[in-house]
Amino acid sequence: MLSIDLSGKRALVTGSGSGLGEAMAKTLAQAGARVAVHDRGKSAAADAVAAAIRQNGGDALAFGGDVSRLDDMDALFGAIDQAFGGLDILINNAGMDGARADCAASDPSAWEKTIAVDLFGAYYCARLALQRMLPQKRGVILNITSVHEFIPWEGYSAYTSAKAGLSMFTKTLAQEVAGDGIRILALAPGAIRTPINADVWQDPKGLADLDEKIAMGRLGEPAEIGNVAAFLVSDLASYVTGTTVAVDGGMLIYPEFRHGG
Ligand code: NAD
Repeated sequence: MLSIDLSGKRALVTGSGSGLGEAMAKTLAQAGARVAVHDRGKSAAADAVAAAIRQNGGDALAFGGDVSRLDDMDALFGAIDQAFGGLDILINNAGMDGARADCAASDPSAWEKTIAVDLFGAYYCARLALQRMLPQKRGVILNITSVHEFIPWEGYSAYTSAKAGLSMFTKTLAQEVAGDGIRILALAPGAIRTPINADVWQDPKGLADLDEKIAMGRLGEPAEIGNVAAFLVSDLASYVTGTTVAVDGGMLIYPEFRHGG
């Protein structure tokens, strides 16, 4: 029987104390990976996810650090070296969409913060991961972008710019290291039920509006991201690099154009 086997692989999932990161950390552990669960600070959330994985028979440790701080990420990768002796899989998942503000009224420091977390955070971690993956000639980096690497989103120009930037970062790194046994990919979630968008899906009108934007007519569940992520970082996807895989229930196929037009 075909199955996803990540046994012997050491993985870091940033921002995995909640939402999609939590789901991906749990799925990777289920597939046999040794998982570094990480969140801002050494949070209770990361501890709880790591404990849940261990309770389920998996292998996980909790780590902390702000992804937008280079010194924190240096310390995080040093701690993972100590605990795991290296890294085979990095999922750059930690992210934020920031407060909604049209450009003219926006706060430059808030704009900078979103770029710092969503783009610099992924850059710092990818750089540190590649320093470990290149000598071993093996590794996978999966960057979690968004359908907003393609679809503009009024009031969220820092987020859309960061995610579009992360997409081109993915392709460029893939080109740099394709000959070194390392794959670099992006996964673009559509609207998935997590704390990041709870204000929308907890509001019946907001949910109905969102469902209309999705060809399949429903929100995605975090486990549906976890399953695709586990496949993409596994050897089953050994010939896939430098591209974005959308997991969006058909948000990117313009469902509004089903009728008329
Ligand atoms: P979430 O808010 O549940 O998770 C985000 C995680 O990132 C949290 O654990 C948070 O603590 C962590 N984080 C934020 N800033 C950090 C920092 N500076 N340092 C370390 N950790 C930090 O939301 P989610 O939906 O699980 O989002 C995960 C990723 O998926 C994000 O990159 C987000 O942009 C992306 N995404 C989510 C959706 C969706 O519909 N849920 C859609 C598209 C993309």
